[in-house]
Amino acid sequence: MTLSAPELAAAFTDRFGREPAGVWSAPGRVNLIGEHTDYNDGFVLPFAINRSTSVAAAPRNDRAANIHSAFGGGSTASTHLDDLRPGSIDGWSAYPLGVLWAFEDHGIRVPGVDVYLDSDVPVGAGLSSSAALECAVAVMANDLSGAGLAGPELAALGQRAENLMVGAPTGIMDQSASLLGEEGHAVFGLPQQEAQLVPLDLAGSGLTLLVIDTRVSHEHSTGGYASRRASCEQGAKAMGVAALRDLGTDDLAEAAGILDEETFRRVRHVVTENARVLAAVDVLRKEGPAKLGSLLVESHASMRDDFEISCPELDLAVETALGAGALGARMTGGGFGGSAIALVNNDDAGAVTDAVTRAFAAAGYTSPAVFTVLPAAGAGRTEG
Ligand code: ADP
Ligand code: MG
Repeated sequence: MTLSAPELAAAFTDRFGREPAGVWSAPGRVNLIGEHTDYNDGFVLPFAINRSTSVAAAPRNDRAANIHSAFGGGSTASTHLDDLRPGSIDGWSAYPLGVLWAFEDHGIRVPGVDVYLDSDVPVGAGLSSSAALECAVAVMANDLSGAGLAGPELAALGQRAENLMVGAPTGIMDQSASLLGEEGHAVFGLPQQEAQLVPLDLAGSGLTLLVIDTRVSHEHSTGGYASRRASCEQGAKAMGVAALRDLGTDDLAEAAGILDEETFRRVRHVVTENARVLAAVDVLRKEGPAKLGSLLVESHASMRDDFEISCPELDLAVETALGAGALGARMTGGGFGGSAIALVNNDDAGAVTDAVTRAFAAAGYTSPAVFTVLPAAGAGRTEG
């Protein structure tokens, strides 16, 4: 957070002329492994990070919603809760207002509300600033409405807001990580089951997880996401399964004979990535995070070569990190830009950071932002 909870409360009071009822916050997330598997009913292994979005808020009795974000120089969105419907809002406020709409659409009446929000989750870097924002609003609305919903239900409302009000066809992984995360743990997401916590004690293992934000966002990211989803649906249909999660690595030989070459590679990524998530969970439970390196490297190769969602900046970040001593590295998030992660021994963090920064300069790329993240606690009330 750029503002501490008391500072955020003070900023709320400055803007709205009264005290907030509380401050709530929700973290962004890093996906450790399991990319483009969630919408294939597959496995994911994200963790909530120590960067979050916070909201100071107080209820109103007139059903108005006024939401101020300090982001991008500051702007305020104002609406009436009865006017909210899919397609009614453009821009950033579709995320927070979409969550309020999702509560109401779910039959929960939320009070009107004044909100002041701030975040230190970088926007568009693949760390899910969107879920952090949705989940901070969701835990706030849950408390102010007295709905008493549990984390998985709040995650579903956040996803609904993003799918229907923002119009992004994303899965539920980001919201689950933001709501269910625990310090020192990853959140193992399984289809149709409650997520499980898996130990990810980086600090206790002498390890650092670096995020390398390439600061690029390639234009085709939205189209690329949609076309990968379509390929997966097509592959599942041709293979006669409800979702790609129903295929295992021993079905790939048959798939190669049925699918066209490109669809086969898309399917192979999802099938092998699901297997890598299960392997990673096993490694974390039995051996610890230092042994994750090769799975991360294989995951990156699969996204680069089979799913084709990497880009030169992400490939350079991964290759350079590995060359400078990282135990493993991969792009993370939807692809076509955003961030890579590198798992490094504490002593190598400086050398890896320097090597990546130098390699980007030599290639003429925008200087990357390289920073450390730790597995942190999920969303909740922080004050008041
Ligand atoms: P990511 O989730 O990877 O950061 P997205 O494109 O999914 O990227 O979500 C980013 C969008 O979420 C921003 O363009 C903005 O509309 C909204 N957003 C995120 N954080 C904030 C914030 N602090 N204030 C206002 N809008 C935000
Ligand atoms: Mg997002």
